[in-house]
Amino acid sequence: MIAPLRDFVGAFGRLLDSAPDEPRILREGGALLRTLVARDDWLPDAFAQPDPARYQQFLLHADSTERFSVASFVWGPGQATPIHDHTVWGLIGMLRGAEYSQGHVLDANGRAQPQGDAVRLDAGDVEAVSPTVGDLHRVHNAHADRVSISIHVYGANIGAVRRHTYPAEGGRKPFVSGYSNTLLPNLWDRSEELRATSA
Ligand code: FE
Repeated sequence: MIAPLRDFVGAFGRLLDSAPDEPRILREGGALLRTLVARDDWLPDAFAQPDPARYQQFLLHADSTERFSVASFVWGPGQATPIHDHTVWGLIGMLRGAEYSQGHVLDANGRAQPQGDAVRLDAGDVEAVSPTVGDLHRVHNAHADRVSISIHVYGANIGAVRRHTYPAEGGRKPFVSGYSNTLLPNLWDRSEELRATSA
């Protein structure tokens, strides 16, 4: 059942073995992700469960050397992210339903402002983010009455990456997303804390 995910992870690892630059990762990795989300029969139900309180991010695979990670994002009806950044490249492939991604840029006062039209992703569509191609966005479920699911690939163990959200009043807040289904990033943070205090 999960053979498509297994094939995807293997192919993505082989792509990264060839030390590609970012444009090639986004192009060829994006093509791999497009193949993965072209069919919706492989994601186990445990990784497709919405939560009424907030959108879920389930870790599907973390590369052992943290070159990349794969997660399923599960949007309950109407759920949305804050405006946030990633600090690494990311690929978003729509598996089920639809979502809107509104790009943002910082104005002279450091406030995040919408830039351009929101991009709508329908099942099968793939979008990219990164500090080079545009890293700030706000994402929401396009549907007010049903669940949507996208598959995300990032150039790091994204749940443990120190990044930021951008509140309406300006400035930015430190943000580590973690995962809905593992304590790994929390343990990771704790070990950094311990190293810092024992140094
Ligand atoms: Fe994002």
